[in-house]
Amino acid sequence: MAKERTLSIIKPDGVKKGVIGACLAAFEAKGLKIVATKMLHLSRPQAEAFYAVHRERPFYKSLVEFMTTGPVVVSVLEGDDAIAKNREIMGATNPANAAEGTLRKLYASGIEENTVHGSDAPETAATEISFFFAASELQSYERVKK
Ligand code: ATP
Ligand code: MG
Repeated sequence: MAKERTLSIIKPDGVKKGVIGACLAAFEAKGLKIVATKMLHLSRPQAEAFYAVHRERPFYKSLVEFMTTGPVVVSVLEGDDAIAKNREIMGATNPANAAEGTLRKLYASGIEENTVHGSDAPETAATEISFFFAASELQSYERVKK
């Protein structure tokens, strides 16, 4: 298993639902290490740029709108197979299809307001991490037993 880094976003609905702690706790409980985290409110140009890959999709405008409705929490998660592991913790895009116990099953309101984002491949993870964080903002530490 390769050690990877992935970008997580707790979306505006997750922040407003008060599940920042629950989401971060789920990542840590499943062995993902939080090596950077911060809260910010995306501007429209930032949201448009972050989701540029979805520019031609019918939901793009609405998604950009939603992502600017309130603050988000962006984090870099590190661990073995972090990209796939994070997507497993999040569950399917549409909460109606998400497995029991996943963050989207537990907290998402619908396919758009689905609480969390996670990178989908090593290349997108690298691009998305550098979208929000300078290399010097990523920390290094060892997890120890509680
Ligand atoms: P994310 O990229 O946020 O981790 P994902 O990879 O599961 O989610 P994508 O297909 O990349 O899903 O879509 C990006 C985001 O766009 C989704 O998380 C959701 O917020 C929104 N979205 C996706 N499909 C739809 C849709 N059919 N209608 C409305 N919004 C959608
Ligand atoms: Mg995606």
